[in-house]
Amino acid sequence: MRAKRILEALELAPVAALYGLAEAGAHCVEAGPQSEPAAAPAAGAIAAMGWTELREAVRTCSACGLCRQRKQAVFGVGNEAGPWLFVGEGPGADEDEQGDPFVGQAGKLLDGMLAAIGIARGREAYIANVVKCRPPGNRTPTPDEAGACAPFLDRQIELIAPKLIVALGKTAAIRLLATEASLASLRGRVHRYRDTPLVVTYHPAYLLRNLPDKAKAWEDLTFARRTLAAA
Ligand code: URA
Repeated sequence: MRAKRILEALELAPVAALYGLAEAGAHCVEAGPQSEPAAAPAAGAIAAMGWTELREAVRTCSACGLCRQRKQAVFGVGNEAGPWLFVGEGPGADEDEQGDPFVGQAGKLLDGMLAAIGIARGREAYIANVVKCRPPGNRTPTPDEAGACAPFLDRQIELIAPKLIVALGKTAAIRLLATEASLASLRGRVHRYRDTPLVVTYHPAYLLRNLPDKAKAWEDLTFARRTLAAA
């Protein structure tokens, strides 16, 4: 149906669903040829999952509306036992296409920032997002969407058991610290997510638009490196 395809291309699938051109949920990735899209398992079940089960639960999740327009869920990447964990907001178009976090312009900047403090993705660090599916138009995920995805990120953190978490931007800071404080006020201090030290810095996409703040991000990362060395 041409109208349906155009609405999808314009990321208007919910409108399409409203007019009966597409069924809500019809674009969720299915678990396999015979299976239905799976709603997220209960938080208690997710909290007991190992990596393989967790990855599959994320891949097939339809706990929130973001599953409707994703090409694929973006689970996370890196060293599953690494000392560093970087948490971003959610996949963008490039990540949705390729299936790994931070592979677009913001990802290039993130890799540069990591290299500057001697970290390579995949070697010392794991990279994950607050939400695993791309919010349409790269908008900020809603609190409900972040909440629906929370058990997945919580379990990833538990399995990785990092020595330090770096929250990249406000969405990650709000989610992991349950605070509404400004990013500026959260920088330069060691917080805790459960028992793990956590520091906050700017999101790389913000830095691409606000180049002078790169110097502040550099301060944050050197602070993070000192914090990890002392942990
Ligand atoms: N921005 C994010 O927060 N995460 C990504 O994976 C890509 C861009």
